[in-house]
Amino acid sequence: MYDEQLLDLAASLRDLTETAKAVLRDELRKRELGDPLAPDFSALAKGRADSQQALDAAEDEVAAKPNEYTWKTPLCECASREEAWQIREALRRAGIESWLRDPANYSIVVAADQLEAASAVIANPIPQDIIDESRLEVPEYLPPVCPACGTADPILMAADPSNSWECESCGNEWSDPVDPRPDAS
Ligand SMILES: [Zn+2]
Repeated sequence: MYDEQLLDLAASLRDLTETAKAVLRDELRKRELGDPLAPDFSALAKGRADSQQALDAAEDEVAAKPNEYTWKTPLCECASREEAWQIREALRRAGIESWLRDPANYSIVVAADQLEAASAVIANPIPQDIIDESRLEVPEYLPPVCPACGTADPILMAADPSNSWECESCGNEWSDPVDPRPDAS
């Protein structure tokens, strides 16, 4: 029998025969589960069961959460990809690493030990040059359109030194300028 079963049995010791009581007491002592005839036995047995339950619950909770969420903590949600980019750039300049956890609502997470510093950064207005830069930055992520036939979603053939594309419709190949970002300063 398992310990729990044995303890249950011990709780209803009154109903057992004398022989069964003796066997059970010996077994409980062997397993160091306590003497069922001791006055505090019931409370003791219940305490063991409760703490085991609490332990199980705690283990379930840990298992349910992926590890990274124990140290990455939510900072804020943004209204747009542009705003998320601005905030992450402001954090990056302050030396704070950040991640976009959920692209659907642009929620940004930071390491838990940098939350305070990150909150201080975003409490200030985003510097104008970051806002300017983000407006240049965003179109870069839009998938290009074939300059020959206008078909969207070309195949990315190479990314070095700049993105090279091939159109699936007409076979046209072209490359982005090597440094497409004009100097913001
Ligand atoms: Zn084309």
